[in-house]
Amino acid sequence: MGVSGECFDVIIIGAGIMGSSTAYQTAKRGLKTLVLEQFDFLHHRGSSHGETRTIRATYPQDYYFPMVMESYKLWRQAEAQIGYKVYYEAHHFDMGHVDDPDFRAVIASCRKHSVPHQILRPDQVAQKFSGRFFIPHNWLGVSHALGGVIKPTKATAMYQALAQKYGAVLRDNREVVDIKRDNQNGGVIVVTAGGESFWGKKCVVTVGAWMNKLVKAVSGIELPIQPLETHVFYWRIKEGHEEKYAIGGDFPTFASYGETYIYGTPTLEYPGLIKVAVHGGNPCDPDNRPWGSGTKMDVLKKWIARTFSGVVDTSDPVVKQACMYSWTPTEDFVIDFLGGRFGKDVVVGGGFSGHGFKMAPVIGQVLADLAAEGEAKGVDMSPFRIGRFVQICRLKEGPGK
Ligand SMILES: Cc1cc2nc3c(=O)[nH]c(=O)nc-3n(C[C@H](O)[C@H](O)[C@H](O)COP(=O)(O)OP(=O)(O)OC[C@H]3O[C@@H](n4cnc5c(N)ncnc54)[C@H](O)[C@@H]3O)c2cc1C
Repeated sequence: MGVSGECFDVIIIGAGIMGSSTAYQTAKRGLKTLVLEQFDFLHHRGSSHGETRTIRATYPQDYYFPMVMESYKLWRQAEAQIGYKVYYEAHHFDMGHVDDPDFRAVIASCRKHSVPHQILRPDQVAQKFSGRFFIPHNWLGVSHALGGVIKPTKATAMYQALAQKYGAVLRDNREVVDIKRDNQNGGVIVVTAGGESFWGKKCVVTVGAWMNKLVKAVSGIELPIQPLETHVFYWRIKEGHEEKYAIGGDFPTFASYGETYIYGTPTLEYPGLIKVAVHGGNPCDPDNRPWGSGTKMDVLKKWIARTFSGVVDTSDPVVKQACMYSWTPTEDFVIDFLGGRFGKDVVVGGGFSGHGFKMAPVIGQVLADLAAEGEAKGVDMSPFRIGRFVQICRLKEGPGK
């Protein structure tokens, strides 16, 4: 067979949150599972490390709502199995210009899915949050209970521990350099930089910002997944006000729609500091990163000063953490069979575009379904298919071409 290592039902490449939750799902189903990670487990060079990720059910795109709602349930189930907490409840507050199409779509989605919510004018926002949020006169706010915070490094560690508990083999410092079809026996042979090779009936590729590099190298297929370097920032809350912004009270996770999408979480990980950051980043090579900010700090500082009316110190962030996004042209995920000569034997899960963490439990389930069953049940896969990019390219060419 030409393999130096063992044979597996499923080989998962990449041990960020997506690979780890997939491994939990496949191992739990009794499939012999191997996870290969290029760096140390829980390293800080990808997308799944850090202290907090927002979970919120309100999305401009309708199809994420059921995925988030199912994920709330699955986060709780996994917590019950491991015996510690990774998800913290909070309300959520969206704000935006009355005419902003994404913000309006969020309101429409609340209505469509019967999410109990309040639409607030600027004076009502100031009143509801006792002066902790201020929005401009031509903006509205939407408040509802479906927010929350997830601890990313801890959640990734949780799924790795659960996968191991169900018998998965996890190996780090194993960079995968090739995936080959096994023409003799079927399945695939996965080769590492150290020269080991493993046979897998199926393979799931969850390599985050490295997706395009690896997929192109092994198949020639170029996925429009662009790595972006981004940063989160923690800002000091002025003395005497800290408690009012802490999780567990009535301060919500929040998102501000507009040309610059700004988001944040209540105080949890660093007492006295609040996380406020900009969604997006700068294109980068994941193996040769600038480690520079690139964030439009003037825009962010202005927003903080206006929204928190001087209670949050905008002179400089106190803590700054670097991270990577895997950006697609529509910001929708890529979850599909790789196709080509690999057919249904290689499944890819990537392009999570800076908003996938919250849905990792469902994404793990879907990736495991695709690998084990050849189809995903209960999830509309059409927004995530690789084939949709062909349409985008055609549309870009314009009519008549
Ligand atoms: C700053 C920031 C804030 C975010 N905020 C939110 C939020 O509030 N809410 C939300 O839902 N989502 C959020 N996200 C998005 C979310 O964190 C990501 O969608 C998610 O972590 C992606 O996980 P992943 O497993 O695809 O990628 P990764 O975590 O990067 O995992 C991929 C793994 O594959 C490994 N790998 C790569 N190449 C190889 C190879 N050849 N061989 C072996 N291993 C390999 C990498 O080392 C890495 O460990 C945020 C992301 C960032 C960066």
